[in-house]
Amino acid sequence: MNDSIYRAPKGTRDILWPESERWRTLIEIFSDVVGSAGYTQLVLPIFEHAEVFHRLGSSTDVVSKEMYEFIDKGGRHIALRPEQTASVVRSYSQHRPVLPWKVWYTGPNFRYERAQKGRFRQFDQVGVEALGSDDPHLDAEIISLAWQFYERLGLRDVTLLVNSLGNADDRGRYIESLTAHFSASIDDLSAESLKTLKTNPLRLLDSRRPEDIEVVASAPQMSDYLSSDASEHFDGVCRVLDSLGITYEVSPRLVRGLDYYVRTTFEFVAGQLDAAQDAIGGGGRYDGLAETLGAPPTAGVGLALGVDRTLLACDAEGVFLPPTSAIDIFVVDTSGGDEAVLITNEVRQAGWRVDRAWDDRSMKSQMKAADRSGAAYAIIVGEEERTNGSVTIRDLRGDAGQETVSRTELLGILRKRLL
Ligand code: AMP
Repeated sequence: MNDSIYRAPKGTRDILWPESERWRTLIEIFSDVVGSAGYTQLVLPIFEHAEVFHRLGSSTDVVSKEMYEFIDKGGRHIALRPEQTASVVRSYSQHRPVLPWKVWYTGPNFRYERAQKGRFRQFDQVGVEALGSDDPHLDAEIISLAWQFYERLGLRDVTLLVNSLGNADDRGRYIESLTAHFSASIDDLSAESLKTLKTNPLRLLDSRRPEDIEVVASAPQMSDYLSSDASEHFDGVCRVLDSLGITYEVSPRLVRGLDYYVRTTFEFVAGQLDAAQDAIGGGGRYDGLAETLGAPPTAGVGLALGVDRTLLACDAEGVFLPPTSAIDIFVVDTSGGDEAVLITNEVRQAGWRVDRAWDDRSMKSQMKAADRSGAAYAIIVGEEERTNGSVTIRDLRGDAGQETVSRTELLGILRKRLL
């Protein structure tokens, strides 16, 4: 390990402008979409008692292998959250809000993964959780919110995969039969998969290792193990998706990394990303999780969308592009700088983003800064303008040229030009 302290640690990165602005806009769009369905924001701690996540089960790699855990100065066993569903349910258990409880969240999660493009050790998600109902309409509502969100971003090449993992009993019977199937073929499985077989046979269905392909292809299908109750629930979800015109593929091998899912699971896959990192979001139902975190039995369903990967998918499709300028107007003042103080103040208060030059530089140097700034207009004040109470407005992008107007007319003219 010879990471330089002058570089962000492996698997993390700094998000500079303009990416940071695009990032913020993405979160605004998400909050707008889910806010329209009554989801309210929940801001959670970034770390929890490690036990909160350990209760998700030792067979979940995210918890057993990838968690950032430490003992704090007070002797508490703490973990940086690897995901936020467990924290939401812990918060539910603590506050016992009125049901149904519909919340959304955003923020970073931490997993000690093999860092590569689209796979980070600190990555951000936006997500929603709805506790208190097992109505299949609610599963479909959550899926449809993600769909609307992608539409608002302009993403087109996204495939929705859906599956049902059945009730806890169905899942148990299915896992038994999967274990039997894979155990009969241990000579054909990769060494890695033999380990997974012991801890989490369901995850074997995810394997993309060439040695495993045949054995995985001939594995029993979850759909044959669904109870009529789980089957009906799944049909209900699919029916609503149909009625909303949301296209999907039923993917019988879709299992997902976290082991708390029962019944509905789903994933959004971006067609333009490399297969290893093409999951841009997913979620499912986790009835039963509340009990493991100290609450009375409460149904729950939710989703988490990866911000980093969603933006990579936007790049790949050339949509939702980063902004090209951080300001609307640049003030150039060669009369000493005091006018720039007043003008920037006035124009900022009128609602525009305004910057100016510093250090009383020459006209040429200030105009260079104005051009570099990406602003649409420069407001220019020289000695002459200052004396006679005027300003010159110059179009920096188009061919509207420039005009000198009285200082009192400035805001009115900007309104006409910039609206
Ligand atoms: P999960 O919490 O594992 O269900 O992941 C939900 C979504 O978060 C995935 O579909 C990814 O888009 C994103 N995600 C998960 N892990 C990472 C990671 N290590 N780096 C970047 N994005 C991730």
